[in-house]
Amino acid sequence: MTNLTEELLIWYRQNGRDLPWRVKGGAHENAYLVWVSEIMLQQTTVQTVYDYFNRWMKRFPDLKTLAEASLDDVLHMWQGLGYYTRAKKMHECAHVLMKQYGGRFPADREALLKLPGIGPYTASSICAFAFNLPETVVDGNVIRVIARLYGITTEIDKDDIYQRAQKLTSLEHGADYASAIMDLGATVCKPQGPLCMICPWVGSCQAAAKGIAEEIPVLKKLQKKKKHGAVFVIHDGDGRIFISKRAGKGLLSGLWELPWTDDGHELLFEAKWVKRKETVHHVFTHFDLTLDIYETTVDAVPEVLADGTFVHPAELAGYAFSTLMKKVLKKI
Ligand code: SF4
Repeated sequence: MTNLTEELLIWYRQNGRDLPWRVKGGAHENAYLVWVSEIMLQQTTVQTVYDYFNRWMKRFPDLKTLAEASLDDVLHMWQGLGYYTRAKKMHECAHVLMKQYGGRFPADREALLKLPGIGPYTASSICAFAFNLPETVVDGNVIRVIARLYGITTEIDKDDIYQRAQKLTSLEHGADYASAIMDLGATVCKPQGPLCMICPWVGSCQAAAKGIAEEIPVLKKLQKKKKHGAVFVIHDGDGRIFISKRAGKGLLSGLWELPWTDDGHELLFEAKWVKRKETVHHVFTHFDLTLDIYETTVDAVPEVLADGTFVHPAELAGYAFSTLMKKVLKKI
């Protein structure tokens, strides 16, 4: 074990965060809980995950309950967390684990990587947190800490960060080490205003020595595409709104929605449409979307709407909607 590793572990034992999905001093005995938290934490802050995690564990306390639940129920519990593919894959993964692994997670990275929705990061996290294996877990916090520790002022090269992080990973305390470096990034080596004075690595940190911590890491800037489309609010004579379930295998499939397009404004069918003044804005991973809102009332259901249903606004809470659609519903 390097001195840096040891210093960090000592710091962690006294200062590490208490999170409902972690334990200090070794592996968590419940790999299911580790997996749920790790999937939820992708693209979502710890603060937001707290409530979702607690609600989820009450509703689906184990793999069996999750595998036996309907996809609709799972999506409903996920509602608001975004990136719904994660929830769909979790449901799929629970089925595979029940059928092929007797309801247990394999303690093997290669086997984990073959499961639905488990990529290299999640596989490493499960190995470290649930099985105490010396796996190197690299998230945004770890990238920042390592880049600062070694004073890397060039654009981040993830392979280089991984290799440096791997050299520091504890062979005996995989779970504590992975938690420790993440906690250091989250609570001390923060993006702005890092607390170098209380950092266990301050004596070895190149960024701190040069006073350039806040300039690191240098991340690649993504140029996001902008899209402009429309959403169609269709009322029937009884004040109900038309919704349908999205088909296919895409990001939002299985969720309910109002008819919408992310490309242009071609109206859905001939009707007296009223365009609202306000728009809806939503940021996806690869593009920014603005939707104009068109509204109409129909007497008869046009053929183009054959696959959906009209629902009273008071009943909409019983359906799983994406964050985008929740924004639309809030506006109308
Ligand atoms: S000394 Fe400062 S910049 Fe360096 S790792 Fe610690 S908190 Fe981050």
